[in-house]
Amino acid sequence: MNYTKFPRRKYLQGPTPIEHLPSLSNALGGDVNIYVKRDDLLPGSGGGNKTRKLEFCIADAMEKGADAIITCGAVQSNHCRLTAAWSAKEGLDCHLILEERVKGSYKADASGNNFLFELLDVQSIGVVPGGSDMMAEMKKKAEALTAQGKTAYIIPGGASNPIGATGYAVCAEETMNQLNDMHLGIDHIVVPSGSAGTHAGMVVGMIGVNGGIPISGVNVSRKKDVQEEIVYKLAVELAARLGVKSGIAREDLVCFDQYVGPGYSLPTESMVAAVKLFAKTEAILLDPVYSGKAAAGLLDLVRKGHFPKGANVLFLHTGGSPALYAYMDTFRQG
Ligand SMILES: *Cc1c(COP(=O)(O)O)cnc(C)c1O
Repeated sequence: MNYTKFPRRKYLQGPTPIEHLPSLSNALGGDVNIYVKRDDLLPGSGGGNKTRKLEFCIADAMEKGADAIITCGAVQSNHCRLTAAWSAKEGLDCHLILEERVKGSYKADASGNNFLFELLDVQSIGVVPGGSDMMAEMKKKAEALTAQGKTAYIIPGGASNPIGATGYAVCAEETMNQLNDMHLGIDHIVVPSGSAGTHAGMVVGMIGVNGGIPISGVNVSRKKDVQEEIVYKLAVELAARLGVKSGIAREDLVCFDQYVGPGYSLPTESMVAAVKLFAKTEAILLDPVYSGKAAAGLLDLVRKGHFPKGANVLFLHTGGSPALYAYMDTFRQG
């Protein structure tokens, strides 16, 4: 596809690696060959998927003359960390609104991403209760900055609008090119499904290049039907933006919701086991909130025989490992 008509800052040095995971595959019985796409190794302080989206969102902000970025996320948000990182790099101010989705979970002196917000010189942090209207909160902040003579630009949570999700359509095309170069036939791709830009972008990109590889999302907060509808809506908008002719079918969006546990960011036994298994077999660090739960889904689907014997399955590792340091007790107890 042709992405040259969209404003874009180039933050990637090249494609992220696709690696075979033989030890992990063997640990699961060896019937399925597991591969990983290492978006945890993307540039940007600490790595992770938001860098691909921010290539487009920050470029749009700069084209519009912004000198301050406002975004939002949970108290350990990787998206907030990476928005702060690329804002710092571009010489833009960064303001965060954090949603305390779990009551009492914000601690100004917490480790993990929260510590990095500080190090990356975030200009202000506003904390609001779970369930707040985050867009309204960000607009309030934008008005205050405008009154101070700033030009503010709002990036929605997870950078999951059609502008940001474009970064994951690019990723699907990048992946397909790599698989062709490697002459590696992948039967299925598994991705985390959160604010939906990653999942929607991958599906639209895959359809756009006629790659034909089915993609499944593993939810980190919502129920299956609700999440599929959110991803579908974004996918339709993104397909229109990119001019993907063949259209997106509702059935192209498939989510699993059995691995969420008690709720967003709350640890589960299967997440802890998945993080430990990836670390000890492949020396790959997952995270407690997204990639860890998505990997728990991947492992369970493999063990249940969801994929046929001999299948090649690619797991999109979206990063997030800085959050591990805010969850050390969970892993030491688990
Ligand atoms: C944001 C995030 C996701 C989810 O991606 P969405 O585009 O929000 O669905 C997955 N993994 C990590 C580490 C993230 O930070």
